[in-house]
Amino acid sequence: TADATALLGSLDVAWTLDSTNSELLRQPLPARGAAVLLAERQTGGRGRRGRDWASPLATNLYLSVALGFDGGLARLGGLSLVAGVCVAEAVAALGVPARLKWPNDLVVEGSDGLQKLGGLLIEGGGEHAGPVRAVIGIGINVAMPAAAGAAIGQAWTDLRRLGVATPVRNTLAAGVISRLLPALDAFAREGLAPFLPRYNTFDALRDMAVDIHDGGRVTTGIALGIAADGALRVRTDAGERGLHAGEVSLRRR
Ligand code: ATP
Repeated sequence: TADATALLGSLDVAWTLDSTNSELLRQPLPARGAAVLLAERQTGGRGRRGRDWASPLATNLYLSVALGFDGGLARLGGLSLVAGVCVAEAVAALGVPARLKWPNDLVVEGSDGLQKLGGLLIEGGGEHAGPVRAVIGIGINVAMPAAAGAAIGQAWTDLRRLGVATPVRNTLAAGVISRLLPALDAFAREGLAPFLPRYNTFDALRDMAVDIHDGGRVTTGIALGIAADGALRVRTDAGERGLHAGEVSLRRR
């Protein structure tokens, strides 16, 4: 859309990269607007805490967006949720009812639990109070080859297995970018509040029993939805808590 085009600083497609996030972290930001980078393949695709993200050639979507923000690192907290909403909406436009598992997974309900369709990885750097650079990495499985899928240590799926006719990567990339750039602009100006109702429609954890993995400890609770600051509200035996993305991993029971 014209809206997204005006917010686009650069758009590049690479053949092979270590990781689209790593490449954007090495590059200077465009003078204005966001940098968008896609790759056909990643040799070192990453999830949280250095975990691998399976990124075989020319089958899935690997896309990163870098942009500057004013106002300190705390502004980055909501980005995973804002970007997740845009990704879920782009996938919904293809007819797939994907949902979001806080803080960074795109999932679908399978017969035996959640299957991972994609994920987000937010990285960035800067000052507590000054300008920050945010890099948003997005991986969405489109047509995962069986051999690459066999290396994934948890339940996963892709758009082809969910009935989407491929090729669809260009449509999907355009759907994500055209939603994400205006959303990031709105988030920079208005914060997370306008996105919470949209997030709620995709929340895969709401009212579910969850195991909270925190270091070696596991606590059980009920997920209550997202707080205004992007924390996941959970009711445990010890009372209500707000979980922040850096601290914990969640498993639905
Ligand atoms: P957490 O709940 O702490 O985020 P996670 O298992 O979802 O844990 P991430 O860092 O978000 O971890 O994602 C990395 C994990 O996702 C890998 O360890 C692997 O199990 C799985 N994975 C790797 N590549 C893919 C892929 N292409 N599609 C789906 N899942 C993948």
